[in-house]
Amino acid sequence: MAARAFSTVQLVNGSTGDPVLYLDYPGGDNALLFDGGENCGLTAAQLGDLEAAFITHHHVDHFIGLDRIIRANMDRDKILHLFGPVNTIRKVYDRITAYEYPFFPFQKIVVKITELLPGKMRTATLECTKKFPEPVVVETAWTGPVCYENADLRVEAVHADHTVPCLSFALAEKSGYHPDPSKLATGILKTGIWVQEALRLLRAGADMQTKIELNGGNFTLETLAANYFTESQGARVAYITDTFFSDAVQPELLKLAKGAWRLYCDSFYARAQAKQAAQYKHMIAPQAGELAKLAKVEQLVLIHFATRYAGKYQMLIDEAAAVFPKVSAEI
Ligand SMILES: [Zn+2]
Ligand SMILES: [Zn+2]
Repeated sequence: MAARAFSTVQLVNGSTGDPVLYLDYPGGDNALLFDGGENCGLTAAQLGDLEAAFITHHHVDHFIGLDRIIRANMDRDKILHLFGPVNTIRKVYDRITAYEYPFFPFQKIVVKITELLPGKMRTATLECTKKFPEPVVVETAWTGPVCYENADLRVEAVHADHTVPCLSFALAEKSGYHPDPSKLATGILKTGIWVQEALRLLRAGADMQTKIELNGGNFTLETLAANYFTESQGARVAYITDTFFSDAVQPELLKLAKGAWRLYCDSFYARAQAKQAAQYKHMIAPQAGELAKLAKVEQLVLIHFATRYAGKYQMLIDEAAAVFPKVSAEI
């Protein structure tokens, strides 16, 4: 059983730029984005494929890319889900309405924003066809950790300990059948709505001899399963950044990272700058290693290196590796 279902995982600006993580799945409108910083490394097509974006907080290095996200999805007839901490609804609304629009009929984007607060969530929907009226905010109880779920996966969120309200996230894929990108690329049947229909039947545990009519031919569910799908246990990917490794949040961060295939973790400072880490609420590289070790993750990828270490980033990797050997960075 393959362990993971996603077809693409891309740390858009590496370990030294704004932390941005893009994951995609076979098919359209189902990519996920963690953080909304600089994202020129992603094409408009990649951003237009987004189903949901999860923003940790509103510091500029995590939020400046929002405009490109919205623009790339403007003409899409879909709901784009956006998640963030308190005040995300107001801040996204202000950013969207900072621009003028021709409101062409084909500009159909619907942005569903959810802001997560301790114990509750607030949602609002911004609709282009209604010319983005003032949002109506609905508040409901939320005890976490799951903030988003679809047929393939769940996304969990916890509150981090940063200088401003900030979230950390984890993606947890569900085990079961998933479309296999390489099989779909080489198979004789072109990808179409049948993929979703076959997937629905497979996940419902339908009889494998069930026949599906496609392109004038009849295919059993068994044949389609073997040739176009993979059974996967599903992977956990944790994305933790801009947080102090304080006693208050350690247990929650640990739960988020527990058993992850890969943990992307804040490593803004080296050990020698522990004082700055406490003041500006970031992690030091050895703490990223410690978290990875405690959570028994498979791999640790360090992110968000401060520019003060330019030319000597290896030091940060070495400090983390002393605690957790399976560590890497994209420099
Ligand atoms: Zn940051
Ligand atoms: Zn920050």
